[in-house]
Order: sequence, then C-alpha cells, then structure tokens
Amino acid sequence: MGYADGMKTETVSPQVNGIIASSRHDRTAWLRGGESLCQMPPNIPQGGPWRIILLGAPGVGKGTQAELLCGFLGTCHLSTGDIFRTAKSASEAGLTTSMREALQFMRRGGLVPDSTVLGLIAERLRCLHCSGGFLLDGFPRTAAQAEALEQLLEQEHVKLDMVLNYKLPLEKIVARISGRRTCAGCKAVFHIATRPPQVAGICDHCGGDLVQREDDRPEAVTTRMEAYASNTDPLVEFYRRRRLLVNISAEGSPREIFHRTRESALVR
Ligand code: AMP
Repeated sequence: MGYADGMKTETVSPQVNGIIASSRHDRTAWLRGGESLCQMPPNIPQGGPWRIILLGAPGVGKGTQAELLCGFLGTCHLSTGDIFRTAKSASEAGLTTSMREALQFMRRGGLVPDSTVLGLIAERLRCLHCSGGFLLDGFPRTAAQAEALEQLLEQEHVKLDMVLNYKLPLEKIVARISGRRTCAGCKAVFHIATRPPQVAGICDHCGGDLVQREDDRPEAVTTRMEAYASNTDPLVEFYRRRRLLVNISAEGSPREIFHRTRESALVR
C-alpha cells in the first residue's frame, strides 16, 4: 500500500555493531505525508507483520534498537521526530503553518502540541496499514496521544502487538546523549565513544556531515527529560493495563539490548 515509481529511497545502515540489518526502507510516505507514496514495497516479514510501539527516554538507545529491530523484523521505522527534522531541512516556503509552529516547539526542546502531532498522524494513515508492519518511535508520547492512537487503530482495524519500554538510570542517559552525533543527510546515528564513524565527523553510510542535533544540546536535553518524565508515567501505565507493555533493560551494548529484546519479546 502506498508505493510509487520515481521517488527517492532511503537505506537503513547495513551494520550496527556487527548485527546485520540489511533491509531497505523507503519512508517517503511517512516523512512527507499527504499524498506522498513510497517507491519500494516492504518485504513481508516472517512471523509478521509486526506492529510495535517503542518507548524510552531520550538517550536510552531507542534509535539504535529501532534500526536493529527494523532490519530483523522488516518493519518500517515511523519516527515523529524524523518528520520534524525532515521538515526543518525543507524550504520555509514548503512548510504548512502547523509544521512551522511544531518546529518552534521542537527547537526549544519542548513537546509539540498533541493536536499538531495527531494531525500529522492523520495525514499518514497509510503507514499504519503498511503490509510490512510498523515500529512507532516518539509517538505516542502522552496519555492523550495514546488514547487518540487507540481509537484510530480501532477505527482502522489495526491491532497493536506490543509496546517495548527501554529503561536506563538517569546518569547513564546523560552520558549517552552528550556523545551522540546524527548525519545531516541520511539521519543515521553515531556515538563518539560507543559507535564512532570510520572517519570522525563523516557518516559511514552517505558521507554526510555528522552534527550534534539541536535537541541533543545540554539545555534542550534537560527540558526534554523533564517533559519525558511527566508525560511517560501515565503512558506506561496505560499500556501496562492493556497488557501490551514489555519492559526491557537498556543497560549494556546495543547488541546485548537487542538480544534481550529478541528473547523477551519477539517470539511468535
Ligand atoms: P525525538 O526524535 O523523538 O526525540 O523527537 C524530537 C522532538 O520532536 C521532541 O523533542 C519533540 O519536540 C518533537 N516530538 C516528536 N514526537 C513528538 C510527539 N509525539 N509529541 C510531541 N512532540 C514530539
């Protein structure tokens, strides 16, 4: 569902700490929304499609796990943060009023209002129906968003499989965030200590410049952590009550966390 010829495709990084994640994902429909279509259909995964929500504070390594999970499960990485970052690099003239407003909130490190985020999801319904399944990352972020998503999925007859909740003590989160670098081109994520690029400052995958995301800077991180803490507890409780929540320790290397996830959650 939702594919077209002649659109640019995106490649998920081929290798993360020795774990092969070779699937190619075209996220055009997600990143651009509206009438935009993906060029490449997903490979329907074995045991799938999987429909999963990822939870975890900034810095727990959720982005890396998302990449590994997508390679393993064949799902598409639907990150709301990536929609905003893509919009940020688009020309001002091409932005809608609500997207411009959303970017103002994001630059200050605060959450984008629920109504704006829900509007963006409503423009991307075809992604929820994708035959390859999905891995939602960054949405829902508040109990109100979770309730709205629940209604939307019911209305669309789409069933959620699980909510993976990655957990890590605060001091370890801060250490991880300060070293994070993101490719300005393909958005691949590196870490100066634990996942360095082959050439400092250059993306291994597309040769783009590696930059510190505006919202990874210390002032913005503090605001993000406060917002995360106050919003996430009710969200975790919401999915615990629905018996969809799977808590996973985010201690250790990406490989260890990934194996822990596979063993505790991904058996069908
Ligand atoms: P992320 O990459 O998920 O950390 O998102 C980056 C930024 O985008 C956040 O700090 C928020 O400003 C904004 N954002 C992303 N997803 C949401 C959401 N579901 N609700 C509100 N704001 C969001």
